[in-house]
Amino acid sequence: MVEILLLLLPLVFFLGWRASRRKLIKNQRKQQQLSGHFVKGVNFLLSEEPDKALEVFLNYPDIDEYTAETFQLLGDSFRNRGEVDRALRVHQNLIARTNLKPQQKQKAMFSLGEDFYAAGMLDRAEGVFQELLSNTQSNKYISKASVCSSLRTIYEQTQEWQKAIDAVSCYDKSNKKNGGSVPKLNSKSLVAHYYCELAEEALQLGKLNEVDDLLAKVKSTYKQSTRLMTLQGDIEFHQKKYKPALKKYLQAIKQDSRLLSMLCDKTEQSAVALNEINGLQKDLLSLYKKSKNKTIFETIITLAKKYGNSEAVDSLIESELATEKLNIESIYKTSEYIKSYSEGIEAEQGLDLLNKSLSNYLKGVPAFNCGHCGYKMHDYLWRCPACQQWDTIDHA
Ligand SMILES: [Zn+2]
Repeated sequence: MVEILLLLLPLVFFLGWRASRRKLIKNQRKQQQLSGHFVKGVNFLLSEEPDKALEVFLNYPDIDEYTAETFQLLGDSFRNRGEVDRALRVHQNLIARTNLKPQQKQKAMFSLGEDFYAAGMLDRAEGVFQELLSNTQSNKYISKASVCSSLRTIYEQTQEWQKAIDAVSCYDKSNKKNGGSVPKLNSKSLVAHYYCELAEEALQLGKLNEVDDLLAKVKSTYKQSTRLMTLQGDIEFHQKKYKPALKKYLQAIKQDSRLLSMLCDKTEQSAVALNEINGLQKDLLSLYKKSKNKTIFETIITLAKKYGNSEAVDSLIESELATEKLNIESIYKTSEYIKSYSEGIEAEQGLDLLNKSLSNYLKGVPAFNCGHCGYKMHDYLWRCPACQQWDTIDHA
């Protein structure tokens, strides 16, 4: 009996070897079929036939960890190209697959939320992100902070400011836990804006106690907020309390001179009501010396035209025209002022100053540009250095 078994041993070994070889060949064939399928899909993509490519990928039989990554990227790239319907189909297909890791499904869900957002379906996007937030811990595929950040952008769109504040707080907590791997948000400044939005809503409804509470929250969140100063100024202005209004407006403008164009009228009205136009002019002059902001320069001239000139304004104009490179709008406003309003600058001196100022301006202006691509240059060239076209250079 033992001899017979010994004799059968090679046969058993042979059968075992043949079976494993058949399995190997079968696996190889399957792999070849799959890669053939994959290459076919990629070829459709390369030949700009996205619908055919989509059909191949959606019917792809076995998606594993690695092909899932590729499909994920494919869906994202459809969305980035504005083809949201296709992106939605890819991501929905991925979520429906049974052999995907839960974390990869979560990543596909995140992309689905982004697809809905891109398609303007904000309530569906919110639903997806909220579900993710309840069921997800940060992992290598998805971070909780990104989910909070996406929710925040939705609440900004829907103007649900309290929810946006909560989303920023959720973002901060998750990002801290996760070592800050997600792009940083300027959380304090954002939350200050959201509280200001709520305060403006409360102001419109006449809920003044609520306004005070909200402004206190802005102050404790981000006390440098120029929007807080502006809002405080507006509240005083509407109550005709011009002194504190002017103080708040100037405080905001000193911190950020870009606000002058927005606050110009109310600042001027407050100063007129208080008979403090001279003081305002002085403040703006010293601010201009620090910032060299063209809006401030033009406001100084506008105020001088309306309320009378002063030696300080004339001497500022003389030095700016002679030495600075002003833009053409500022030069025009200044020439108008010299022509009709200035008492200190004589006509001949004014002409001389304007001549200098125009010369300063022209120093930086390119004399030629390319008719093909618009590239600007100071000297004539046979060939454009940007688009490499011949004989396309002309006077600017
Ligand atoms: Zn060119």
